[in-house]
Amino acid sequence: LGTVVAATLYLRQLVEPLDTMLNQVEQLQSSSASFARVEGLAGAPRAVREGSPAPADDRIDVAGVRYAYDRGGEVLRGVNLTVRPGERLAVVGPSGAGKSTLSRLLAGVDAPGSGTVTVGGVPVVALGPEQLRRQVVLVTQEHHVFLGTVRDNLLIAEPGAGDAELWAALAAVGADDWAAELPEGLDTELGPEAVAVDGSRAQQLALARVVLADPHTLILDEATALLDPATARHTERALAAVLEGRTVIAIAHRLHTAHDADRVAVMEDGRLTELGTHDELVAAEGAYAALWHSWHGDGRAASGR
Ligand code: ADP
Repeated sequence: LGTVVAATLYLRQLVEPLDTMLNQVEQLQSSSASFARVEGLAGAPRAVREGSPAPADDRIDVAGVRYAYDRGGEVLRGVNLTVRPGERLAVVGPSGAGKSTLSRLLAGVDAPGSGTVTVGGVPVVALGPEQLRRQVVLVTQEHHVFLGTVRDNLLIAEPGAGDAELWAALAAVGADDWAAELPEGLDTELGPEAVAVDGSRAQQLALARVVLADPHTLILDEATALLDPATARHTERALAAVLEGRTVIAIAHRLHTAHDADRVAVMEDGRLTELGTHDELVAAEGAYAALWHSWHGDGRAASGR
């Protein structure tokens, strides 16, 4: 009995230190994740702020672009593409083909290994952040709510904006109703310890930033597929308002996006293998046609007719 009691007491004493240890391991993990982000900033391509000429027009050209990540082989193997101002271009293809990588290069997030990505004749990576966000903005599935007020979260996109412009941007994405109900309006602090913002509101804030930055071209990594239907409906409406009047390059995960686009580019294994309108590509009976038929379930691709 003595041994059992002693063992139990010792075990009880162990609980607290174990707890402390687990807590610290957790903190270590989260701080190493934060550190990785800071480290990532150092690796971002540095813009040549002074002396980079202003883009001549809104045309985006991709010429002979190759790209490889530090680890792994070549992901893009010679991509050529000209995006016409005002068009909706959908990029489709199997997962791992390099679509997201292309979208990062188009938005100037990464620099191509060789070849060029230019807007109006100027390489996108040569543009300073001020200039870049007037040209091209990448909208992805990651939405950050920055610690600070609603105003701080919006001014990142356009430091000179007045209250009227901020409210107009919130209204454009359908966020003005909940923002107006915040205790201190635009000066309400956001964040886990103040007013928490859910996924769809974070997305609306991100889209409001796009409205404020007012770029002529949007790269859209089609996000809504991953959201729950109620959120998706909200976001799609906000998104439609943001897309109005801009050139849109959509990384399409659903083929109905491709069907509605002006042109469709098919990406396979790091190359653009087909480019044309939906009808042209379906008539050409190539990879896109096969995708379309199998998605539509009309059995033509399967039966080989
Ligand atoms: P898609 O968007 O068409 O699914 P991605 O551009 O995401 O394709 O990925 C293309 C290839 O690059 C994949 O093989 C993927 O594993 C690889 N890849 C993507 N991101 C990274 C990364 N950060 N580091 C290394 N390899 C990556």
